[in-house]
Formats: sequence, C-alpha cells, structure tokens
Amino acid sequence: MATQDLPAAFGFLASARADGGRLPEAVFATRGSLAGVDARLSEQTLTATLVHTPGCPPDAAFARDAGTAVLLAGELYNREELRSVLDTEPAGDAELVLALVGRYGPHAFRLLNGRFAAVVATGRRVLLATDHAGSVPLYASVAPGEVLASTEVKALTGQSAPHGFPLAGARRVRGLPGVYQVPAGAVVDVDLTAGTAGVQRTWTPPLARRIMPEGDAVAAVRTALDQAVAARLTPGATPLVVLSGGIDSSGVAACAHRAAGALESVSMGTDASDEFAQARVVADHLRSRHREITVPAADLLAQLPYAVWAAESVDPNIIEYLLPLVALYRRLDDAPRRILTGYGADIPLAGMHREDRLPDLDTAVAYDMATFDGLNEMSPVLSALSGHWSTHPYWDREVLDLLVCLEAGLKRRYGRDKWVLRAALADALPEATVKRPKLGVHEGSGTTSSFSALLTGQGVAEQDVEAVKAQVVRELFDLTVAGGRRPDEVSTDEVVRSVVERHTKDAA
Ligand code: ATP
Ligand code: MG
Repeated sequence: MATQDLPAAFGFLASARADGGRLPEAVFATRGSLAGVDARLSEQTLTATLVHTPGCPPDAAFARDAGTAVLLAGELYNREELRSVLDTEPAGDAELVLALVGRYGPHAFRLLNGRFAAVVATGRRVLLATDHAGSVPLYASVAPGEVLASTEVKALTGQSAPHGFPLAGARRVRGLPGVYQVPAGAVVDVDLTAGTAGVQRTWTPPLARRIMPEGDAVAAVRTALDQAVAARLTPGATPLVVLSGGIDSSGVAACAHRAAGALESVSMGTDASDEFAQARVVADHLRSRHREITVPAADLLAQLPYAVWAAESVDPNIIEYLLPLVALYRRLDDAPRRILTGYGADIPLAGMHREDRLPDLDTAVAYDMATFDGLNEMSPVLSALSGHWSTHPYWDREVLDLLVCLEAGLKRRYGRDKWVLRAALADALPEATVKRPKLGVHEGSGTTSSFSALLTGQGVAEQDVEAVKAQVVRELFDLTVAGGRRPDEVSTDEVVRSVVERHTKDAA
C-alpha cells in the first residue's frame, strides 16, 4: 500500500507554554502510532503528541523556524496554487503553512482549501485554525501562560490544565468546563501571556445566490467536482469509495474512476435493510472491484458508543447518519486506506428536505449552512477508529461555495431534487442511478428504524422515541467523551435500559 497516500498526521494534542514544555499524555479514538514534538522557540515552547499511520513518520505534519512552529493534522487540496505565491518549495503541508504564515500572518488560513486542524506558535501568540468546514474538529483550553489544543476533546479531559478562560465566539463543550470548540473556518488568535483571544473568520457560507444558464451551472458543477475528487486521489493508487448507489456517492465514484482509471467500492447493509442492488448497478457500470458488508442490526446498535466516542457529537440525528458508516469503517480490516465519500452533498442542495417550494428549499439551505458547525459530521475520527482516512469532495471549499450559491431553481428543476448535480453526472452514470430518489444512509441501512424498534421494544411510546434517542446519545457522550470510559466498556443495551427507566419514572 502506498502509505504516503495518507496525511502525515490524523490528529494531535498540543501544549503551548510560555515557561517551558510539558508533553501531555494523550488519549485518542484515532487508531495509530504516537510521536512526540518538542519545539523550543524564542518566546514559547510547543510540545505535542501526534497520532499518525504506523510505519509512516509524521515529519510533514510539523515545521518550524526560530520563532514559529506549525502543527497540522490533515491535508491541503490546493497545494499547487499555494506554492505559486511562494519563492520557496516547501516539502510538506506544515512547511507550506509555515511559509504562508510568514508571508500573510493569520490571513494565510483564508487561502487554504483543505481538511485540517492546525496550531501555530509564533512569538507570544498561538493561532488555532480550522478548515472552512471545521471538518477536523479542534478544541482548546486557554489560560494565561498555557494553551492546550486537541483534535479530540476527550484528549483534554484528564489534563491538569488551569481552568480555561472563556473564549468568546467559540462553542462550549458539554460536561467539560473551560473547554471550547474552535469554530469552522476560523482562527482563534491567543495572546499567550494574557490568556485572551480573538476569533477571526476565514470563511463563511455564501449568502448571495447566483443565476446561471442551465448549461453553465451543470458544466461548473461537473468541473468543480472532478477537480475536488482528483485533488483527493493519490497518483497510482486505486481509489476506494463508500458507495450506496445514491446520486451523491455514485457521482464521486464516477469522477474517481475517470481520474484514476480504476475503482474499488464498498457498500454496507444490515439484516433489516440494504441498498446492495442499487450500488451494484453503479459498481458494474464503472467496473469497480466491489464489496458488500452486512452488519446485523443488533451489532450495529451495539456500536453506538463507538459512533458517539468518535464523533464527539450529541446530535441524535447526526449519530444516526454516522452509525452505519462507523460500523462499515470498523469492518474494513484492510491496511489503512484513503476513502472517498459522497457525504454532505445534501446540505448545500437541500436534498434531505425533499422540498419542492423554492423559498422553503433556500430556507433549508441557509439554515443548514448556518448550523452545521459543531455537529462533527465529517470528523476524520469516524474512519480513523480503524486507521482509515476519509475525505468529502462535496465539502471541498470550491464545490461547496458553488453549490451553496446556485439559485434554488437549479437545485430543484423539472420535478427533480438535486437537479444540477444529477444533470452534471448524466453522461457518467446509468440513467436509473441519475434518476434515483434520495434515500438517506440512516434509512437505507435501517438504522433509524432499528434504533426506534429497540426503544419501542422497551415500552417507549412512539411520540417519545425522538426524545429518548436524544437522551441515550447524551448519556453515551457523558460516559465515553466527557467521562473518559472506553466504548468497549459501555453497553448500548444497558444505557438504553437506564435511560428508559428514568424516562418512565419521570413520565409517571
Ligand atoms: P442520496 O443522497 O441521493 O441518497 P447517497 O446515498 O450517496 O446519495 P447519502 O444517502 O446522503 O448519499 O449518504 C451519505 C454518504 O454515505 C454516501 O454518499 C456514501 O458515501 C455513504 N453511504 C451511504 N449509504 C451507504 C451504504 N449503504 N454503504 C456504503 N456507503 C454508504
Ligand atoms: Mg443515500
């Protein structure tokens, strides 16, 4: 396997201190080897533990000069463009960011199209930066003289850091006082001496809408998606796509096949439901080496603690979307792989809302784009639980900007949802796939119905199911993320039993 295929680091726990280094002990859900970094700079010390693919040294995730150090988990997708403004030839992504920060300061982060979280220690300042989508979560605890930052909030729980100062403009984390999540598309700029910080946005979702002739919009979407997929492939390696046979993942599969000339794909289903036949149509069309993985519904629900532990999210709907994918990634026992997914296309296109009135469709787009932050839907930890790196071409910065800003009549047209995407892929996929109505991953895998059945089977009334699901997810978060329990020590059945018991008592 071409291991340079994967990012140099998947995550980190970092400490920036004014008075000398202290290497914190790290707990990650991300599977990998740990490596230490110790950078004594002119005005502060940055120490860190990186988590990376075994056998692949994480050198490219760290770069420094006399006064500045850069730590970067993840990867960049517009390297050529970024290099074109520099006189030097940086070797890895961290070195590239170091050079860009030298030239532009914190504004360097406005230039990046990537999937990353970064820490920059420079002079007496610490910059904590996320990509436009916040797709690699980044958490921090800030106090005078010390900043602790991590890509997994569970890594910050056991730390003996001084109680964190409030970070205005950042989200608090449930059950972890003093810990904040860095917003998506932002740089938190910390004054290390004072422990104070300001948040600068480096990206916001477009609010304006563009009117384009049909043909131009379709061509623009196809070009942007082709480029985003190509930027996520390693030359010479066969791409792997998690494929449902829905338009979103089939589109990614078609672009990946076109760019690489070969394709591997995998579909998951349960004994309750699957989309195997629809995925097979696409796999056959693209001559993909295709696998089907069936996870019994009971096994799927037993993995809820892993999904919450990985996503660090308390949103029960999001956990239902992510659970089947976590179960799939955990069954992929190959060596660490780069995996492409069609996840996320529905957000800028309002596919989930099955809405045909244009004002309501655009309301859904505006709402979803204003509220995605902090849900951690695209966290790399979901696949990194089993060592894999996942990436989401529809949330490439250029693709996302384009999809969001298209006027609603291009998204819903001729009675079809996601029309512009379907039209963009019409020549690359079977007609049945292009016309196939949306089926969410939580529906196609029977996840939502199995979770509901687990609760109604314990006597929960239909109208209470959503509320009890939310309680179960919060309880799992409190145990595995805030409480530091390992997911294999937490039983879905036991948590459900105790939540249902409490719920029944409260209702009586
Ligand atoms: P559509 O939105 O039209 O149904 P889709 O199925 O590709 O298209 P989602 O249902 O939103 O998209 O699912 C999100 C992503 O999760 C998919 O793009 C795909 O990468 C992955 N996925 C969903 N269901 C499966 C499955 N059964 N097996 C493997 N991967 C899946
Ligand atoms: Mg689907």
